[in-house]
Amino acid sequence: MCLFCKIANDEITSNKVHENDNFLAFHDINPKAPVHVLAIPKTHIDSFNEVTPEIMAGMTAFIQEVTEIVDIKQSGYRVITNVGDNGGQEVKHLHFHILGGARLKWGHFSDADPKDFL
Ligand code: 5GP
Ligand code: ZN
Repeated sequence: MCLFCKIANDEITSNKVHENDNFLAFHDINPKAPVHVLAIPKTHIDSFNEVTPEIMAGMTAFIQEVTEIVDIKQSGYRVITNVGDNGGQEVKHLHFHILGGARLKWGHFSDADPKDFL
């Protein structure tokens, strides 16, 4: 069973923010912003590559609820899902990073010059 399946099953404790029958949100153990919450489906899905539009519909509403609960809906936030090796996905269980609580930086994401790929 993968790390986030164990968190979903309460075999590993997490600092929960919100949950329903299908989804769970908890604070990231290594936050990269004042607010850094992870939202996951309770059933295992490897990544965004495998998620269905039906599950995403529920996930969208769930993430919107999380932004209200942690009070970043009006001030703004970022939602990220890393996919595969180039995306930097370390945990192979679909998760959405919800980041906020401060003005977030935006810039180059790799050492490669984007202009080289135009
Ligand atoms: P990824 O790099 O796969 O997109 O993101 C994985 C995230 O999971 C990282 O931000 C990391 O800090 C977080 N993480 C890894 N292990 C744990 C854990 O045991 N508990 C919690 N709450 N977060 C974790
Ligand atoms: Zn899993």
